[in-house]
Amino acid sequence: MKTHTRVVVIGGGIAGCSTLYHLTQEGWTDVVLVERNELTSGTTWHSAAQVTNFGMNQTMVGLKTHSINLYKDLRDDLDYPVSYNHGDGGIRLANTEAQMDGYRHFASMARGMGVEFEVLDAQECARRHPLISTDNLLGGLWDASDGDIDPAQLCQALARRARKAGAEVYRNTPVTGLTQHKDDSWTVHTEHGDITCEIVVNACGYRVNEVGAMMGVHHPVTSMEHQYFVTEEIPAIRDAGHRMPLLRCPISDYYCRQEKNGLLVGFYEQDCHTWGMDGIDPHFVNALCPDDLDRITDVLEGAFERMPALTEVGIHTIVNGPITYTVDGAPLVGPIPHKRNAFCIIGLRAGLGEGGGHGWLLAQQIVHGEACYDTWCIDPRRFTGHANVEFTALKAIEDYQNEFRFHFPNEHRPAGRMAKTTPITPILEAEGAEFTVVNGWERAEFFKPSAGFHVTHGFHFDESFPIVAAEVDAVQNAVGLCEVNGFNRFEITGSDAASFLDRMFCGRLPSKQGRVGLGYMLNTHGMVKAEATLANLPASDRGPDRIWYGSAAAAEYHDMDWLTGHIGGDEDVQIKSLTNDMTILVLAGPKARDVMQSVSRADWSKAAFPWLSVRECFIGFAPATVMGVSFSGELAYEIHIPNASLYAAYTALRAAGNAHGLKLFGALAVDSMRMEKGYLHWKADILTEFDPFETGLDRFVKMDKGDFVGKAALLERSKTPPKKRLVTLVVNDTTAAAHGGASVMADGKVVGTVTSGDYGHRTGKNIAYAFVDAAYAAVGAKAEIDILGKLVPAEVTEPALYDAKMEKVRS
Ligand SMILES: Cc1cc2nc3c(=O)[nH]c(=O)nc-3n(C[C@H](O)[C@H](O)[C@H](O)COP(=O)(O)OP(=O)(O)OC[C@H]3O[C@@H](n4cnc5c(N)ncnc54)[C@H](O)[C@@H]3O)c2cc1C
Repeated sequence: MKTHTRVVVIGGGIAGCSTLYHLTQEGWTDVVLVERNELTSGTTWHSAAQVTNFGMNQTMVGLKTHSINLYKDLRDDLDYPVSYNHGDGGIRLANTEAQMDGYRHFASMARGMGVEFEVLDAQECARRHPLISTDNLLGGLWDASDGDIDPAQLCQALARRARKAGAEVYRNTPVTGLTQHKDDSWTVHTEHGDITCEIVVNACGYRVNEVGAMMGVHHPVTSMEHQYFVTEEIPAIRDAGHRMPLLRCPISDYYCRQEKNGLLVGFYEQDCHTWGMDGIDPHFVNALCPDDLDRITDVLEGAFERMPALTEVGIHTIVNGPITYTVDGAPLVGPIPHKRNAFCIIGLRAGLGEGGGHGWLLAQQIVHGEACYDTWCIDPRRFTGHANVEFTALKAIEDYQNEFRFHFPNEHRPAGRMAKTTPITPILEAEGAEFTVVNGWERAEFFKPSAGFHVTHGFHFDESFPIVAAEVDAVQNAVGLCEVNGFNRFEITGSDAASFLDRMFCGRLPSKQGRVGLGYMLNTHGMVKAEATLANLPASDRGPDRIWYGSAAAAEYHDMDWLTGHIGGDEDVQIKSLTNDMTILVLAGPKARDVMQSVSRADWSKAAFPWLSVRECFIGFAPATVMGVSFSGELAYEIHIPNASLYAAYTALRAAGNAHGLKLFGALAVDSMRMEKGYLHWKADILTEFDPFETGLDRFVKMDKGDFVGKAALLERSKTPPKKRLVTLVVNDTTAAAHGGASVMADGKVVGTVTSGDYGHRTGKNIAYAFVDAAYAAVGAKAEIDILGKLVPAEVTEPALYDAKMEKVRS
């Protein structure tokens, strides 16, 4: 066994084998995999191993396409052909129009990745799958490339290719401990000796948290028991003359594929069980959980009704095994939060279909620092402090119970709610707030007109539309108050803070004290990594000279790791997170100044506190730090308040606002208004797949300043004109937004992808942002957007449709 190597991958299931293989493909061949038993002896060996191209965003579709192409290549390898039934086709069923809309949207989204799904009616579903009935069926989504693979052969083939390229695999070698050294390298302790390495990868399946504990980490991953059975031969299948397509059923929560001449049927029962939460028997190897078919009788009934042939055939085998879930159903693939040189590829609940792609994207991240797609949807840092053992289990159960029922836009499910709240959450609830969830934080989405009011979730504009319009109207014509909790807030101090941030950001920082600026950080490839508001605060009784760094709530761990990872050993820079201690109240609208003036003794005149100013003050007696910034496009104040004083500040503002027609507004109103201004959302419109010029952030890039992270790469990129550009489009439809992912079409081809879409209530326009081919990016260019299966005309406009001259925010 080697005693030193570059990367040690721990775990020899599909996750580990795929990572090892792809590391060698990216050029790192001094890499090893250590496995406690034999390869595939965790979950992988007993997987139903279905391989679909279906995904709910373009990164997932792209990585699954990679899996499929890789698996085809392995199937065709004459030296070691892998058994892969590619192209049986698969149908996702639906019995509601809202689900059908979802499929239409996912088809539009996948088209941009070169993948064609078909939306079928019920009769066509039955024609393609002769065993199903059309009762209670509206139709389905057809994935022509669906199929299944032999999981053990797949892993052996990947390990074989990795070995050929120079990697080594040590079987029957349990990892017993991990030690990190001062230079961030690791020693991996195994039962057969130590291996030192630069980087470790946790690919330990359901034992993820045994290995996580060795580095002091709890990963938000829970295992669930999951069962399928395989039937005896079914004559209709034997005689069909073709393989049966796969089925996935959100109506009755099961999947089904052909196995030999019978069917393999897997179930997602409501009465589901977590597994191994209090520890896992060390001898649970190549093992299964006890069968428990009683648990699935509710689901089974639905499967019988859809496929009557199932009632006439015996069960040959039952498999019940642990399968890992995370908080949102997607895996954790990427850097482990707050650790250096440590990555994970865990929480895979569809690891056979996705594993080829996940290993590919992880290897790229390890070797190049970033993957070819933006990987935020699988980034381990997207869950933060609230994602503890109990919370994760609740969300895992909920996700399992809803396996094939995708979330509708703005749908937030009930498990694990109120994970992060502020002192005014109950007050806002009493005011009628409907809450959305951002990084665990409960944020008011809009304010309901009555207790019994609810929206019908779907892809069209819903009952909240006029309510949001009224909230926007109050902000535009009077004044609105909105709580923005969980906004990521770091306090950066130290004698090198300014020079450090200057190096991190591609633009100029607010060098004058009392001023605020917006800035962007790039990765080493010159692509946009992060966005932050920087406020330069002078020393006061509340602290020394300091810079407040504010970014999206979801960015808490991501931004902290990126910043701290760049502080030089000799730099005097301290970064402290205030995210859980402070909350923002946004006061916005033409009367905002009057309200401020009546609750605070400071001078809030335009001359004393112009746009982009910051100052410390009091709201009533509550200490506050106020910034003159606006995401709505109206005159606005961002009021940062310690949570202990939040209630006092809120009541003072509410009381003062009464005289000026103050109304509460929520996140949907904010979204409507920011789209009219051309303002962007991190990880919707700001992605690592694009540089700042493509993203339209030219004015935030100062190539004439000193060196900054990503400058050399950006310089190189800027030698050729951008291929894509982020544009604003006005969409000629009043029934539905252009949801993120929808394809923009022109000249009979896909020319772009929507990143955000919403209705602008002040302008009366349905607005979309999209990255489009540069040739279609000019103002006035015409295109069509595939919205829920209809090609809707759209036109490129200037980015800001509302107050382009910025007169209101500066007023
Ligand atoms: C019943 C069932 C049906 C499924 N059907 C499908 C399907 O149709 N399609 C699909 O895509 N997915 C399916 N899945 C999910 C899929 O099987 C998993 O996502 C996948 O196998 C997970 O692979 P993994 O490599 O992450 O974990 P594992 O396969 O569990 O691999 C982890 C490895 O790490 C090793 N390990 C653990 N601790 C240590 C240590 N201390 N030192 C060294 N090694 C260690 C283990 O021994 C194990 O070999 C199914 C799962 C189940 C249970």
